[in-house]
Amino acid sequence: MRFRGLPVSEGIATGILYIADTGAAVSATPDEVKDAFAAVAAERFALAQRLRDAGRDQEAGIIEIGGLIATDPSLANPAVAAVRDGTDAATAVRQATEAQAAILEGLANRELADRASDVRQVAHAVIDRLSRSGAAPRPAGDFILVRREVSPADLIELAEAGLVGAVSVAGGASSHAAIIARGLGVPMIAGADPGVLAAAAGQLCVLDADSGELVTGPEAAQRTAAAPVATGQHGQPQPAGPDRTADGHEITVLCNVASAAETRRGLAAGASGVGLLRTEIPYAEALAWPTLAEQRSQLAPILSLLAGAATTVRLLDFSGDKIPPFLRGAAAPGGAAPPDEGAGLAALLTHRTALADQLRAVLETGRDTDLAVLIPMVSSLGEVSRVRDVLTQTAAALGTSLPRLGIMVELQATAAAAEAFAGAVDFFSIGTNDLTGQVLGLDRRDPAAKPALAAHPKVLALIARVAEAGRQAGIPVSVCGDSAADPLVLPLLVGLGVTTLSVPAARVQRVRAWLRDLDTGACAALATEALSAGTVDEVWKLVPPI
Ligand code: PEP
Ligand code: MG
Repeated sequence: MRFRGLPVSEGIATGILYIADTGAAVSATPDEVKDAFAAVAAERFALAQRLRDAGRDQEAGIIEIGGLIATDPSLANPAVAAVRDGTDAATAVRQATEAQAAILEGLANRELADRASDVRQVAHAVIDRLSRSGAAPRPAGDFILVRREVSPADLIELAEAGLVGAVSVAGGASSHAAIIARGLGVPMIAGADPGVLAAAAGQLCVLDADSGELVTGPEAAQRTAAAPVATGQHGQPQPAGPDRTADGHEITVLCNVASAAETRRGLAAGASGVGLLRTEIPYAEALAWPTLAEQRSQLAPILSLLAGAATTVRLLDFSGDKIPPFLRGAAAPGGAAPPDEGAGLAALLTHRTALADQLRAVLETGRDTDLAVLIPMVSSLGEVSRVRDVLTQTAAALGTSLPRLGIMVELQATAAAAEAFAGAVDFFSIGTNDLTGQVLGLDRRDPAAKPALAAHPKVLALIARVAEAGRQAGIPVSVCGDSAADPLVLPLLVGLGVTTLSVPAARVQRVRAWLRDLDTGACAALATEALSAGTVDEVWKLVPPI
């Protein structure tokens, strides 16, 4: 059989089909449903204990409520009974919890009424657990992961466990799962035909993520036999940069990572360091802000690879398609966040311990690196000074040197006011993924969103402005959005004077090779012409193939 999807991370891979969730009705026994409620409760109680140990009693109390809800027989029993009577498990859990949620919502007491969303969160967790446990076990050898929505955390978790390709029914090229797939060099298609979720797991398949097709069954076997298929070739280790353009201008190529696997890959390809460490990726399903201990153990394996190398660690960016359950719906009463926190940077800055904990974990585990801290989604100078204050205090308390502090320029208004920010920070890093989406009105999950759209004249004008503001203030300006590795955008960035690029780890080698062929004078002339173009199509036509 053949299933089509949007190519979002190129390459061809062969492996066993691993359908990690069906996303539809789940076939589970009454006992399995009962066990799933118990497991969700246990998970919440364990987290609450970790939070208490970290002195975060208020959040622990909120998480415990979720645990108590999951152990409440008036919720689990009707679901178990309905499954016994023949209802599929997902429907049974949903109906039982909706009945409870509706009762709570009808109560006059606001606090009790707010518990309705805790009930729904528990239901979601139970269904998710059942749909995963109902799936066939993970194959022992190379496999192609199929999920209704592949999460970036799935990819980094499975990167060194046999994952050779991924198929997601949801999302597009700017979703974070696609970004991580490109970093790992794992072929991936998104927006795939939902019929793939019902394909027989365990069969051989070929994922052609160049043409956007997954082929299963006998046809896949024939294809594999006919032509050996490339799976995750890493190439020979390359000497580290910096690189020079054809006319001798120095350009530094760094890599974007969220895992040790990507870091190893980027360094082996000669990246001069890490220009963007996305720290939030492992916490996509988190129920509370990660503790200091969790952050230390997530960061240490990555930062230990980077002794002496440029290492830019971005603060937790729970925004866009990376908002974990505890921050979803901003004022989500079921979340562990006080209702007025919202998500994103505001939430990080408002929480009692989140920022200090993260900075401490970063400073401790990054001691041996040439460290810089990057603030995501900055919209005001107040945000910068708040982070600088906590950073200064934390470094003083630990006796470490003060790392450079820079901001992501990825909001339209921030880019337009770059001069105002330049004096307050040590560097700019332009996030073309969000910047392009915002300028063109495209959501991160929108299948139409893609890195090449950063060539739009309106986006280029903002990049030009940020680059100029950086030049005037004498601070470095890099681009860490995925457009830096796009052949239709890279020459334009060079033409606008960008001299540091941070690209998906698996693309480092290719970007370095492209740069060696570019002439900065020709790129500057190209950028000037592009800035006065009317549409992105016009710009794409101007860019010579590289
Ligand atoms: C960006 O927005 O360009 C960026 C690098 O950040 P992220 O993709 O993680 O949002
Ligand atoms: Mg961003």
